[in-house]
Amino acid sequence: MVVIDGKALAKTVREDLKEEVDELREKGIVPKFAVILVGDDKASLTYVKSKNKACRELGIEYEEIILDSNIEMQELLDIIDNLNERKDITGILLQSPIPDHLDINKAFKRISPEKDVDGFNPANVGKLCLNQDTFISCTPYGILKIFEAYGIDVDGKNAVVIGRSNIVGKPMSMCLLNKNATITICHSKTKNLKEITKEADILIAAIGKKHFVTADMVKEGAVVIDVGINRTDEGIFGDVDFDNVKEKTSFITPVPGGVGPMTVAMLMKNIVKATKALNSSDNL
Ligand code: NAP
Repeated sequence: MVVIDGKALAKTVREDLKEEVDELREKGIVPKFAVILVGDDKASLTYVKSKNKACRELGIEYEEIILDSNIEMQELLDIIDNLNERKDITGILLQSPIPDHLDINKAFKRISPEKDVDGFNPANVGKLCLNQDTFISCTPYGILKIFEAYGIDVDGKNAVVIGRSNIVGKPMSMCLLNKNATITICHSKTKNLKEITKEADILIAAIGKKHFVTADMVKEGAVVIDVGINRTDEGIFGDVDFDNVKEKTSFITPVPGGVGPMTVAMLMKNIVKATKALNSSDNL
């Protein structure tokens, strides 16, 4: 059994990116990332801070736009329009969640597909479904990178994804399908979940419930990827009961230190990709 070291892999990805950013800067091209944060959600503040830190380490310029939680939808759209038009900005991210009175789908749609480094604009989601080059949303992209780095072959495998969110479950499933896995997507209405997960060669848990996946749900020798981040007074826990599940697996990601660090690293990769595409005639 191998415990996947997402922290170390993310460091390698960032080191490679640093070289790419240095090369761009030598040519006078400076990547600049804009993050829009609406309100003061605690987890969001933590995520934004780690994105800022990663940018600083890589030499990617960073601009944070913090908006009052009472902002009107039109104001938010105007701010996105302005960032779309600015030549210096090469990547835009709207941190979710945003307050309920705002329409996040409308906002994601407004972000220019060329600067949509989170991959949530419907045009980019469509490209992912069509298996065309695009910005893959960062968590699934990080998991693909883990598979590549650890030599985990997805081709022809039975992959089960628990969770169907637009952020993780759905794009993850598309990525696996594009890599020739046979996919099953499970959610809260799925019947006989355990019978399905026990057939998984690759099991991805993106649920948001501490230790939801137990050893009896896992096939011997499976690859288990834990996306969950469940904050409790005792610390951060994944969706997988790691201590009891790990011995059954061939590969498993821990929480923390598995998928989480990869998500930020792949965001940086998408920013560099956007910067290059915006500065080339061969746009995405
Ligand atoms: P989400 O939008 O709340 O989606 C959760 C999914 O789990 C839903 O599709 C839901 O089904 C499904 N679900 C809930 N209870 C279930 C049950 N009993 N059986 C089967 N499926 C069930 O969450 P998310 O945004 O995808 O995030 C999932 C987890 O990943 C969270 O802990 C989040 O913090 C974490 N996360 C981590 C990263 C990272 O970088 N590591 C990035 C993003 C998210 P329904 O659709 O039927 O409601």
